[in-house]
Amino acid sequence: MTKKTKQPSLDFKTDWAYAPALEDTKHISLKKQYDLFIDGEFVKPHSKKYFATYNPATEQKLADIAEADQTDVNKAVSAARKAFEKWSKISASERGKYIYRIARLMQERAREFSVIETLDGGKPIRESRDIDIPLAANHFFYYAGWADKLEYAFPNRNPKPLGVAGQIIPWNFPLLMAAWKIAPALATGNTVVLKPAESTSLTALKLAELIRDSGLPNGVVNIVTGAGSTGAAIVNHPDINKIAFTGSTDVGKLIQKSIAGTSKKLTLELGGKAANIIFDDAPIDQAVEGIINGIFFNQGHVCCAGSRLFIQEGVADVVIRKLKDRMETLIVGDPLDKNTDIGAINSKEQLSKINKYITIGKNEGAEMYQSSCALPTKGYFCRPTLFLNASQSHRIVQEEIFGPVLTIQTFRTIEEVIEKANNIPYGLSAGVWTDKGSKIFNLTSKLRAGVVWANTYNKFDPTSPFGGYKESGFGREGGLHGLMPYLTF
Ligand code: ADP
Repeated sequence: MTKKTKQPSLDFKTDWAYAPALEDTKHISLKKQYDLFIDGEFVKPHSKKYFATYNPATEQKLADIAEADQTDVNKAVSAARKAFEKWSKISASERGKYIYRIARLMQERAREFSVIETLDGGKPIRESRDIDIPLAANHFFYYAGWADKLEYAFPNRNPKPLGVAGQIIPWNFPLLMAAWKIAPALATGNTVVLKPAESTSLTALKLAELIRDSGLPNGVVNIVTGAGSTGAAIVNHPDINKIAFTGSTDVGKLIQKSIAGTSKKLTLELGGKAANIIFDDAPIDQAVEGIINGIFFNQGHVCCAGSRLFIQEGVADVVIRKLKDRMETLIVGDPLDKNTDIGAINSKEQLSKINKYITIGKNEGAEMYQSSCALPTKGYFCRPTLFLNASQSHRIVQEEIFGPVLTIQTFRTIEEVIEKANNIPYGLSAGVWTDKGSKIFNLTSKLRAGVVWANTYNKFDPTSPFGGYKESGFGREGGLHGLMPYLTF
């Protein structure tokens, strides 16, 4: 008689390979229904329509969110216009104080923001707690400092605010993108109508509560929720002076077409397909960590993700072996667990887009490798995935997947890798791993990418400008450069 051995269960809730350390959510109170934030108060949408927002890790509904239509957008823009008359005239140091207050309140409420960001968007709590929320607060601190120094930032140029800024943001870094947009707009004396992405509105609405509590004058920041048609209503509104958009290249192109011929200013931060380049003199273990962070941070929902890996031939075998070993240690699971490395894919639609690309990659003939980790039985999850032997013409190499999927190509010479890295419609970011400073300087000047990291990856700071070339968009956010799109001289 054969002895029956117990098969390991794939149910992640009962079979922990590690000690679960769940973030306590008891202190988080979500409302059943969220309204629009216009002129300093929460108001019902004109159409009385609401849409649901879900937790992508459990597929459970979290709340109903108001859907703003043209009438609501008109109201928000006229509140912002009225507020602009006063906000642009108060002293710059006074403006700075309001922005500091927002930053400080955000720090005080950081825990609540982190948990809500993770519940609504699926990102690991470790990332929202240690990266997204502190960075969002830092953006407000940083731009608060600029408010009364614009004359020094742009000497003899008499910088003036533009007016009302329409700002449309994506779902991958909801609060952080709101901070990237709102903080420089306020510091330069503009007022704002901001729309978060439809699957992740909750932290923007919490920010609206914080802004109300901060005493910022009514109408300086308005937050309207909704999907593409709400965004289009903002873009096409005749009394908007500037559009700042972060999102897909397709929608960015639509926006550029719709405002052509108007006097609206535009900045676009769009898709990316970054080359992460490992030379044979690179510190290999550090580079492997950089590859992991480059593609699996935030489930790969990162426009600057290092999604194309280039390894110099001499070290290809060792890098790939170490990469596979490291991937095996990654924990995919409950985003509220502090041990989780890869959380939930943001939505069902995004998961099916990623799965579609995985099928395309296999059909194109690249060799797929996935880590063997168990996946939760509910929610939207994807194993960390590699495609070996990918070639430059493959769609998985040319198109943005926005998920935890990495393509791997090898190269022999520096000329070859520069040509391949640049031979792509995008130009947002890149990474270089080598022991030689001269190689870094040589390469960074030849890569057509707005941000190039050397021996690190995915490092963000409010002081450094961020933005792209080619189909990755134009204009810069962050740093001194990030003030310019909100000013006229
Ligand atoms: P994704 O495809 O990754 O969801 P999108 O570019 O569609 O990225 O979304 C980014 C933001 O743009 C979201 O806030 C979305 O609601 C908004 N949006 C979508 N379509 C339009 C549009 N036609 N005009 C303005 N904003 C839009």
